Amino acid sequence: MTDLVILGESMVEFSLVEPGLYQQSFAGDVHSVAVYYKRLAQADDRVRLMTAVGFDSASNGLIDALEREHIDTSLVFRHPDRQLGLYMVNTDNAGERSFSYWRNSSAAREVMPLFREATQVAGDGGYSPAGLAPRPDMFFFSGISLAVLTPESRPVFWELVEQLQDSGTKIVFDPNYRPKLWQSAKETRDQYALAFTYADLALPGIEDLEALYGVKDFSGACDLLEPFSIAELVIKDGPNGVYYRGSKERFLESITAVDKVVDTTAAGDSFNGSYLAFRSRGASPRQAIAQAAKISAVVIQHRGALVDQSHFPDTFAD
Ligand code: ADP
Repeated sequence: MTDLVILGESMVEFSLVEPGLYQQSFAGDVHSVAVYYKRLAQADDRVRLMTAVGFDSASNGLIDALEREHIDTSLVFRHPDRQLGLYMVNTDNAGERSFSYWRNSSAAREVMPLFREATQVAGDGGYSPAGLAPRPDMFFFSGISLAVLTPESRPVFWELVEQLQDSGTKIVFDPNYRPKLWQSAKETRDQYALAFTYADLALPGIEDLEALYGVKDFSGACDLLEPFSIAELVIKDGPNGVYYRGSKERFLESITAVDKVVDTTAAGDSFNGSYLAFRSRGASPRQAIAQAAKISAVVIQHRGALVDQSHFPDTFAD
C-alpha cells in the first residue's frame, strides 16, 4: 500500500456548453494527478489532497467530488472567510478555447498557515509534519502549487518538504510553469531551484523548461538538471517521446502520436498520476512510461481533464 499526499489547488470550473449555458465541475492540475493516480493504483493505496477550501456550498461540492473519486479529504483545511478559486472555459465560433481565472484570493493560497495552525505543537510554537501522520510514502507538488502559495507561507512549505524528505518521504515535483501566477521569472527560477534540490522524482515538460531556461530538447534538459542529482527524472515532450534518467538506466521511450488531438488539458497531469500509479504497482520505469503515455493519449482525445473511465476499458481492468 502506498500513501501519497498531493498539495495544490482545485478550482470550480465553468465550461461553456452553449451560449449562456455552462457546465460546472472541479479541476486543477493536482486534482487531475490525484484522480488518475487513485483510479489506476492498487485499491488500498491512499491519496490525500492537501489544500484549503471555504465553508460555502461550492467548497462542500469539491469535497463530495473528491470523495466520489475515493480521494482522502482529511488534509482539506477550511478557511474562515475565503472560498474556492474559479475559472471559465469559453469556446469561440472557431472552436478556440480561452480561460478566465478568479483565483487571486482563493482559500488554497492559505493552505500552509492553516496546516500550521492545525498541527501546532503546544509549547514551542513550532509545528509537526506529524500533521500528515502517518508519514506519506510520497509527497507531490507542482509549479502551480508553489505559485499559488502566498510568498510569506513558502518558508513553512519548504520546512515541511525538508522534514518529510529527512524522514524518508519521496518528494515528487512537476514544474508546470504558469507565468501569470508569478511576479517574475526570477522568482520562479529561485523557487524551482529549491524544488529540484529536494525532488527525488521530477516530471518536467520540455515546454516549461524552454519558457524558463531556454532548454529545447532532452539533452539540454538533462544538462540543466544534472547539478540537482534527481534520482528519477522523467522528461515529457508531447508526441516527441519521454526521456528517462535514473541511477541504473537512461533511455528515450517513443510515443505514438495521436492523429486527432481534441483537448490537451491534463495531458501532463494524467501522465504524472498514471506514471506514479504504475510505478507504485511495481512497473519498471519503461513499463510505467508506456502505460502512462497510453492514458494521456486517451485523455487528449476527449474534452476536459477527467475523462470517463469507460474510455479506458483495458487499462482500468485490474
Ligand atoms: P506537459 O503538459 O507536462 O508539458 P506534454 O505536453 O509533454 O506534458 O504531454 C504529456 C504526455 O501526454 C506526453 O508525455 C505524451 O505521453 C502525451 N501526449 C501529449 N501530446 C501527445 C500527442 N500529440 N500524441 C500522443 N501523446 C501525446
